[in-house]
Amino acid sequence: MLDYKKFYINGQWVDPVKKNDFEVINPSDESVCAIISLGSQADTDAAVSAAKAAFPMWSSSTKEDRIELLEKLYDIYQRRMDEMAEVISMEMGAPIDFAKRSQAPSGTEAIEDFLIQLRKFEFEKQLDDSDNQLIYQPIGVCALITPWNWPISQVALKVIPAIAAGCTMVLKPSEIAPLDSMIFADMLEEAGCPAGVFNLVNGDGAGVGSQLTSHPDIDMVSFTGSTRAGALISHNAADDFKRVGLELGGKGANIIFADADEKAVKRGVRHCFNNTGQSCNAPTRMLVERSIYNQAVEIAKETAQSTKTDIASKEGKHLGPLVSQLQFEKVQALIQAGIDEKATLVIGGTGKPEGLEKGFFVKPTIFADVNNQMTIAQTEIFGPVLSMIPFDTEEEAIEIANDTPYGLENYIQTQDQEKAKRISKKLLSGVVEVNGNGLALGSPFGGFKHSGIGREGGEHGFNEFIEVKVVTGWN
Ligand code: NAD
Repeated sequence: MLDYKKFYINGQWVDPVKKNDFEVINPSDESVCAIISLGSQADTDAAVSAAKAAFPMWSSSTKEDRIELLEKLYDIYQRRMDEMAEVISMEMGAPIDFAKRSQAPSGTEAIEDFLIQLRKFEFEKQLDDSDNQLIYQPIGVCALITPWNWPISQVALKVIPAIAAGCTMVLKPSEIAPLDSMIFADMLEEAGCPAGVFNLVNGDGAGVGSQLTSHPDIDMVSFTGSTRAGALISHNAADDFKRVGLELGGKGANIIFADADEKAVKRGVRHCFNNTGQSCNAPTRMLVERSIYNQAVEIAKETAQSTKTDIASKEGKHLGPLVSQLQFEKVQALIQAGIDEKATLVIGGTGKPEGLEKGFFVKPTIFADVNNQMTIAQTEIFGPVLSMIPFDTEEEAIEIANDTPYGLENYIQTQDQEKAKRISKKLLSGVVEVNGNGLALGSPFGGFKHSGIGREGGEHGFNEFIEVKVVTGWN
């Protein structure tokens, strides 16, 4: 079992002020794979104070200093990529090949992205042809709070732009999957990150999470996680007007027209099941034009049938377990709600897949004949559960897609490019993916409505950590 009980504060690995052990569970076999500590107010205060003390130094560092640090970090990360993948696979159940192919490399992608942004960013410039000068400066001390589902991706999308902008920070990763962040802290130390710029305190939401979001010396909170916690954090941060960035949940619609390419349904099912359905932007509502609906249900069934589920350490393409007992129970209850509300269960259902009684495994599940008012169409399930809904017209598809409190990512499948453009403009979401074409490096990622406030990635993600000042009479 791994011992990860220390925190990283002011450039050193330190013991928690009060002992408060917490077990990290391997979701593939329910064993305890590591012990961390949950921090107390004293640990939070120490980390915030270190970040505050380091701010004058780091905020006045040069662009070159920051580029040099991030380039070193990139090389170290590349060298330790397999270690990162293994730890993610163990702590949150991502199958090892998937962890190596997608989860772990998301960290270096974020470094590449923000190196590009930092190199081209002008920290000072003249406002048009006036005598006003625009000065862009780091916002200050940031609290970064992240979830377990894409653990290092979420961490890197906050830590890297914060460093690039000249901010200092305290990271509180998810207590359920904190080990990747501990390795990341180690990489930052090896890269020569100056003491106090980056600090890490483990803890839960009610403890370190709340302490950070209400701390008077925190200037900004960047949070990724549930919509429930996002609302609590906004309230907590309101009293002293902290800037708050929120990346929250989603309930993406995948609109498949009769003229979609032949792989559209299969691709949609696979995308929904990816990461065992634990992605905020998963296309969990498949809206299918009625003329191809029955055929689509058949293809979806076959795709689910051929989807294997297995332990995360096994090589090959399969789904891993859900992250925790709690998530397992939540997903079971939602599958049961689908059955109770009379959606047609095409494949899957409650219970564990055969031969996988230990571990938090669920059956890949497809519901047909879903209407958009059902619980399974309105609630973010966060498991491999797809709801298939028929539609008759373009307008109806748009209406159903937008009839959700969320607005993170929607999907369109059609070979009519004009139709795709027309619909994309009417969809209320931060991202619209057309025909399976992925996001380019530097794309802004985030949501409308209950899916959040602000964007991560690229220029927009960089600007989240920047304050702008205008100075008159410059020349
Ligand atoms: P969660 O909200 O339970 O926890 C996320 C983080 O917030 C954890 O570190 C947790 O300890 C902390 N936290 C919880 N309550 C808090 C509080 N009151 N104050 C401060 N911190 C608090 O979410 P989760 O279960 O870890 O993650 C799954 C959720 O994250 C899903 O809803 C998913 O859609 C969302 N998510 C969104 C994005 C995005 O970019 N939009 C990306 C990944 C995950």
